[in-house]
Amino acid sequence: MVRTRFAPSPTGQLHVGNVRTALFAYLYAKKHKGQFLLRIEDTDLERSEAVYTTKLIDDLKWLGLTWDEGPDVGGPCGPYAQSERLAIYHEYAQKLIDEGRAYYCYCTPEEVEASKQKMLAEGKPPHYDGRCRHLTRSQREAFEREGRKPAIRFVAYDQAYTLNDVVKGEVVFPQGMVGDFVIIRSNGLPVYNYAVVIDDYLMKITHVLRGDDHLSNTVRQLMIYQALGATPPVFGHMALVLGPDKQKLSKRHGVTSIEEFRRLGYPPEALLNYLSLLGWSSPDGREILSMEELVSLFDLDRLSSSPAVFDYDKLDWISKHYIIQMPLEKLYEMAIPFFVETGWVSEEELHDPAKKTFYMGVLDLIRGYCHRLADLKDHLVYFLREDFPIETEATPFLALDTTPKVLRAFYEALKNESREIDELVFRDMAMSMMKEIGVKGKNFFLPLRIAITGRVSGPEIYFILPLIGKEKALKRVQTLLDTLPQG
Ligand code: GLU
Repeated sequence: MVRTRFAPSPTGQLHVGNVRTALFAYLYAKKHKGQFLLRIEDTDLERSEAVYTTKLIDDLKWLGLTWDEGPDVGGPCGPYAQSERLAIYHEYAQKLIDEGRAYYCYCTPEEVEASKQKMLAEGKPPHYDGRCRHLTRSQREAFEREGRKPAIRFVAYDQAYTLNDVVKGEVVFPQGMVGDFVIIRSNGLPVYNYAVVIDDYLMKITHVLRGDDHLSNTVRQLMIYQALGATPPVFGHMALVLGPDKQKLSKRHGVTSIEEFRRLGYPPEALLNYLSLLGWSSPDGREILSMEELVSLFDLDRLSSSPAVFDYDKLDWISKHYIIQMPLEKLYEMAIPFFVETGWVSEEELHDPAKKTFYMGVLDLIRGYCHRLADLKDHLVYFLREDFPIETEATPFLALDTTPKVLRAFYEALKNESREIDELVFRDMAMSMMKEIGVKGKNFFLPLRIAITGRVSGPEIYFILPLIGKEKALKRVQTLLDTLPQG
């Protein structure tokens, strides 16, 4: 049974880079009808905060990545937060001590440093020299009397390791790369390299996908598996996600946390779809893929070993696609907070059956102009307010001496039009106006659009007019006319 996991440390907001590996682990498990686990690695007490655990669980749920075992849902290998597993780490450390694979080390950080310097001076690799390996009981007692608290140190194997990484290929860790290393600190807390192995082992994890910033850690982890007499999982170390300038993706490139993407209104399906393309590609090159398609197409042999570059434009393109394709009812539910956030309409109004048709009509009309739901505001404004701004791109068209004439003709035509406005009626009106005043093309159509929406682009006027209503439309034309020198 394939069992994969996502093991975030709750030290900050969930980052797209982490979620990308979580997604791959999820897809791999689902593809093989296996299980995906969530484990919280919160033993770094200084940096971990409970609020980040709550946040990351919430963000993962929003994304739709669900886990079969984890801190909130439980499972047979729990608990699933490392801070609740300390007794387990101590039990295994004791076993390692009993088997001669680990020992109490009483050295202070200064003594450890001095021992490394001494090794270096002797022309050896700067490892801890193992001076506590063979302490006698009375030496230990003497240290204890001094009030020293021991760490537990692992006896490093003096051998080379070869890792067949599913992403990196064969990785060789030469002999002597690491010296005896601490597995439990003097404060009783386990170090990452130790806790991660105990957990992956006890949780029967078969495949570990993670960032390649952990690649060099793997040699220590392989040693611990060896000491436990356990078979290590399959490892895949993904190159980190880069920003457009090929530097590690960070805040200075723009939005990077799931929370921010969520706040901007990217549909979660779109974000996951985009993240799946960061270091993986579908066999037939398709880029718009549903979760079901991703599950069936995903495979480890299509993971790329080179770093993926986060392309904000591509994400926007994918997101727009999802916004356009989504069933309107579903999009409406998702869009409600973004409507409310504008301050122009209340949640009650949005749920009011008498008004809902209008708001849904508006949403359906403007969704094609949005890359994310936060963009709705730019187009919502001219449906919900009369004081909408006139964008600067409009200025050249307002300066044309034909514009007052165009607007006056539009005002009259609209006022006298008794038919319901639809595409045909509008085209008919436009034809006769153009003929009458001798202005056509952009110089004719854009002043109309600007008068009604304040913008030079957007949905077709003949879709907007019926939603706004004739009365408001006439007022808008008049208002704009009043600001222009009359030509
Ligand atoms: N807690 C580690 C991290 O967030 C997990 C690394 C791993 O997956 O082994 O980087």
